[in-house]
Amino acid sequence: MPPPTNLFGMEEPTAATPPPGGEWTYLRIAVERGLDRLNEAGGDEGLTYRSAEPVPLGRRVEVPLGRGDKSAAGVVIQAGGAEILEGFPASRVKSILRDTGAGLPPNLVELARWMATYYVCPLGMVLGAMLPAAVKKRTGLRSVTLLARAHRPRDEDAPKLTASTQQAWGKIAVLPDDAFPLTPEHLAGRIAARTLAPINRLVRLGLLTEVETEDVRQIGGVETQLSIEQADPSGSLATPRPTLTPGQSKVVEGISASLGAFRVHLLRGVTGSGKTEVYLRTLERVISKGKTGIVLVPEISLTPQTAGRFVDRFRSVGVGVLHSGLSASQRHKEWSRAASGTARILVGARSAIFAPLANLGLIVVDEEHASDYKQDQLPRYHGRDVAIKRAQMEGCPIILGSATPSLESWSNASPTRTPAAQHSKYALWELTERVGQAALPRVEVVDLAEERRLRQRTTGRRDAHLHLIGPTLESALGETIRAGGQALLLLNRRGHASYIACPDSTCGWFLSCDDCDVKMVQHRVIAGKAPPKGVVRCHHCLAQKLLPETCPTCGKRLITLGFGTQGLEQELNDKFSHLLASQSEMESEPSRIVRVDGDTMASARDYFAMLSRFAKGEIRILLGTQMIAKGLDFPNIRLVGVINADTALSLPDFRAAERTFQLVSQVAGRAGRGSLSGRVIVQTFDPAAPAITHAAAHDYVGFATEELRTRRESGLPPASRLARIVVRDTDLHKADAHALGLKAALDEANAAKGSKVRMLGPGPCPISRIAGHHRLELLLFSQSRAAIQEILADARARGLCKSDAHTAIDIDPIALM
Ligand code: ADP
Ligand code: ZN
Ligand code: ZN
Repeated sequence: MPPPTNLFGMEEPTAATPPPGGEWTYLRIAVERGLDRLNEAGGDEGLTYRSAEPVPLGRRVEVPLGRGDKSAAGVVIQAGGAEILEGFPASRVKSILRDTGAGLPPNLVELARWMATYYVCPLGMVLGAMLPAAVKKRTGLRSVTLLARAHRPRDEDAPKLTASTQQAWGKIAVLPDDAFPLTPEHLAGRIAARTLAPINRLVRLGLLTEVETEDVRQIGGVETQLSIEQADPSGSLATPRPTLTPGQSKVVEGISASLGAFRVHLLRGVTGSGKTEVYLRTLERVISKGKTGIVLVPEISLTPQTAGRFVDRFRSVGVGVLHSGLSASQRHKEWSRAASGTARILVGARSAIFAPLANLGLIVVDEEHASDYKQDQLPRYHGRDVAIKRAQMEGCPIILGSATPSLESWSNASPTRTPAAQHSKYALWELTERVGQAALPRVEVVDLAEERRLRQRTTGRRDAHLHLIGPTLESALGETIRAGGQALLLLNRRGHASYIACPDSTCGWFLSCDDCDVKMVQHRVIAGKAPPKGVVRCHHCLAQKLLPETCPTCGKRLITLGFGTQGLEQELNDKFSHLLASQSEMESEPSRIVRVDGDTMASARDYFAMLSRFAKGEIRILLGTQMIAKGLDFPNIRLVGVINADTALSLPDFRAAERTFQLVSQVAGRAGRGSLSGRVIVQTFDPAAPAITHAAAHDYVGFATEELRTRRESGLPPASRLARIVVRDTDLHKADAHALGLKAALDEANAAKGSKVRMLGPGPCPISRIAGHHRLELLLFSQSRAAIQEILADARARGLCKSDAHTAIDIDPIALM
């Protein structure tokens, strides 16, 4: 190990002598590495340092940490004079190493404090997660020189100017104050000067002054603006604002009435009912009041098409877009534009809720039910819930929009929540019809067992179970293709075959991962030298091996069953490539059947390219996982097929029915958006399941009412609050001991606070082992959110419960596997 170094050669503090010409600034710093430094009230106090220069709250600094004084990054959570020391000897306070210049505004530090407490995560880690890596590293930052008018009376002491300089100065003098500062090139443009010469002369004469600032330069990546315009060539500036329908007007007026104060509005509107237009109009009001807005969209729906509508409408006030296709420097640039007010609307995925916009007037969370809003690593926050908190802190309204609201939001908005409640917590707005002529598509539920019998009768063959596409869907696909339409097929499972087993039922062997208690999935690898049958992969630890041919126990030849998107792609090619080829005018067209899943879409760039091909009609059949269920809004989709609606229904998760309902509704909403009506076919082995029948009938309220009753009867969220703690260890005994210790600490805290929390476990998680780690879970249920918070805070303050490599604390969990 190299000897500990002090990066900037600063002296070790020996005495509290103030810096030359002033007092020390004392700072409390939350280091990103994540140490809990809790006071009795459970607040994080950070570590104490000092600085010769003033450092603002929220600033990211580097400090010496630990015995070796290694440099560690942290954020200033308090700044002030000696009172901050609270009796700590000033002589032992070390100086910070460096002020990085990057940072967060004070209101976000406040939000971070709330998150750290609520989500049981060290404050430094929350702050660290709020700042994008590109902002921390200050990627693409350069120093630029801007020009301002010198502050001196114009007539007094005026230097002699040449004619051309005089003319330039005359034009500069009448520019509005807010045009400055600006670059020399910009200024030349504003005064229509052909060269920079007169401007340079004015600088030398002192009539213009130079201001050094920092600017972020974009390097590489998918060009945001470019991809937006490519996807919507007709759109751009010319798009007229539609006249609102009476339904939309009512919602816009209603929500706008609450501008300037905190209020949660739930907007339930069927797909295509004009929710986005409601967001746009309400944002217009916000902007006209001089305020700013954040629009959150699930990552996968954040397409150029979606973002383009906001960019288009608000071009004049600046729109920032944060999505995963941006390069680091672009991300930094968008962040800086939000911070400086150059962008007053910010559209982005989950973490955009941390954008440093000042003067926030509205937050919109589109598709508020989407599970993408939940982060599955530290800090395990829910973007929607953090958005609600931020709106509350900033005193502005928030709109949660969805065709299928989460039952959490619905129960807060529905006046029937409890018979006694006169007022619901959220305001509820509903748009029940699609805009214009478009009707909601007719949804046919077909019974897969019935479909197999039908195929067997008509073909006389016994291979019906090998078809993923039943006769009904097959003929509908044929019709759609012949009519020149496009089709969308959903199958929520990747790979080729999901079940590799011994055919001998007395043997019963099946292939599972060595390190996880899950089955492995067969994948065919098209390119490369892979064996024809492909490989098997574990979707949890990503282990991969060759597909075995025979049973390792009895030697019989293995069979592969179950289905995934790769298998579906092959079946579609077998069934329809002939028909597609016969239709095509061109000799060799690129593939018209395209699969979209985590295996084929490696980056946002791939995904956007696919969307643009789909928009041009090059893709006729798009098949994929839930990636295709959201945000695709194309008029020529005439058929939507759900290959197997049961894939999510059978999972051991209390939200299985809710997810199935959402998925089927969302994907069905993709059909018939244009003038032609759409058809939706849902294949299932369980045609009577309420999630499926209600989705087919477009009956959200019926489904929600029934499902909420079930949740209440079984004491599950949203009828209760839930926290989940997962303990993991490669050693099962250690995991057991750890989980039992945690349980004992929580039991004690619970008893002391009146036993308001019901605890289940520790017991094995539904997936009891991942990547060699045994997993045990503890579930905490309570009617009161505060009760769960209290006992967790108590155990945390005693150092008995912390988020670390062995312990994952998940508040309001979404994934329960
Ligand atoms: P949602 O967000 O509920 O799916 P959108 O706002 O995307 O609905 O509206 C669906 C389609 O209808 C879009 O193409 C949109 O431009 C159009 N639209 C929305 N409101 C109106 C309106 N008042 N008049 C005409 N077209 C509208
Ligand atoms: Zn595995
Ligand atoms: Zn066997």
